[in-house]
Amino acid sequence: MSQGTVLVIGGGVAGALTSLFLKQNGFSPELYERVAAFNDVGVVKQIKGSLALAPNGLKILSQIPGLDKKFLDNGASFNYLSHRTSHGTILAETPIDIYSLRFGYPLLGIKRTVVLRLLHEELNRQLIPIHFNKSLCALTQSNEHVTVEFQDGTKVIGNYLIGCDGLRSTVRQLLFGSDQPTYTGLTQTIGITDHIRQLDRSEMLNVYGDGGTHFITYPFNSKEACFACTFRESIADTESWRSLSTEQALKFIQECGFARWASPVDKFISNASRLIKIGLYDRPELKTWYKDRVVLAGDAAHATSPHLGQGANQAMEDAYYLVKFWKINITDHMKAFEDYTQLRKERTSRLVTAARRQGEARVCIEPEECQKRNEMLSKGINLNDISWIYDIQL
Ligand SMILES: Cc1cc2nc3c(=O)[nH]c(=O)nc-3n(C[C@H](O)[C@H](O)[C@H](O)COP(=O)(O)OP(=O)(O)OC[C@H]3O[C@@H](n4cnc5c(N)ncnc54)[C@H](O)[C@@H]3O)c2cc1C
Repeated sequence: MSQGTVLVIGGGVAGALTSLFLKQNGFSPELYERVAAFNDVGVVKQIKGSLALAPNGLKILSQIPGLDKKFLDNGASFNYLSHRTSHGTILAETPIDIYSLRFGYPLLGIKRTVVLRLLHEELNRQLIPIHFNKSLCALTQSNEHVTVEFQDGTKVIGNYLIGCDGLRSTVRQLLFGSDQPTYTGLTQTIGITDHIRQLDRSEMLNVYGDGGTHFITYPFNSKEACFACTFRESIADTESWRSLSTEQALKFIQECGFARWASPVDKFISNASRLIKIGLYDRPELKTWYKDRVVLAGDAAHATSPHLGQGANQAMEDAYYLVKFWKINITDHMKAFEDYTQLRKERTSRLVTAARRQGEARVCIEPEECQKRNEMLSKGINLNDISWIYDIQL
């Protein structure tokens, strides 16, 4: 089978995994990524922190032989999912080995740079060409070809293109015009700390303030944990969203209410290293995800706020289903892209909406709303309520 060259734009989770599935199924992908390298000198400076991968994402990874095991070996699976108030009252503590029993895989914390390293090692093993320092800025389509132009002035011709270029996707903009990501009204200040001193077990811990604040932490290896403090903040503060200098971090630690919350939150905050502050965005639903020979995947198609921890997991699902439908409709790429969009759009839109709702509930302000939320949390996890997210049949 020869479908010609498939240009994949963006070497994050969506682009890397789509390339792997394409190669596995007889296509010829070529990956183009705007950063200089995915190593400790290059993109690591930009991508801090970690990801929580879920049973649905890990199941997708298992379709590349051995990849799920490599992820499990390089991350930290959680034994408990806990909810507390900022005063230390325990709302719920659920052992989550039930996830593995019901959905086949645990919840896994893993460093973002490790995710990219493992995916790119696999790309290299599969001899998939990767071109760094290639920032797409223009594309045109003809009956049989897609021509792209990069900011360095070079051009490349392929037969198809998959836009996996993230939240602020240029491919999306070139296809459908300039709809912008939507600010959700929330920021997160994110840090990393040595969790062994703070937590005596491997758990994902959510802590709720009295009004408008939320703290989450989970480990991503045997020593370290990441944490995120969520606030409501006006869009006017965008200027302050960046990597915090040591002075800014100290100021944050002195001034933020979290430092006075019950243990272990106070310890996380006071032992934090490397704080960054970001605004949280999602995307309005797109009517369609493709135009002729170009199709979107991952955040480029359906960026979500992070409160359900599903953005990267959904990028993995996109990669798998896009190639699956394409293989079924090998002579009709438009049918493949349409079937893929139909299947994926409904699920990802539902998740974007649910993540927004989850974020709002975490930082609710009215005492009655907070009480209602805490009562809900105290009931613990009902696996039937969450199975629509984690239980996928391939
Ligand atoms: C604070 C926070 C926490 C999160 N936590 C989780 C979590 O716990 N679990 C989870 O599943 N998801 C989480 N997410 C979401 C997750 O990070 C994204 O959904 C995921 O990274 C999307 O992958 P992607 O490959 O589509 O996009 P990206 O990871 O953004 O990758 C896009 C790639 O395209 C490249 N690129 C961009 N423009 C161009 C261009 N013009 N030309 C060439 N290359 C280009 C970029 O350099 C980048 O490498 C979180 C997000 C945030 C903000």
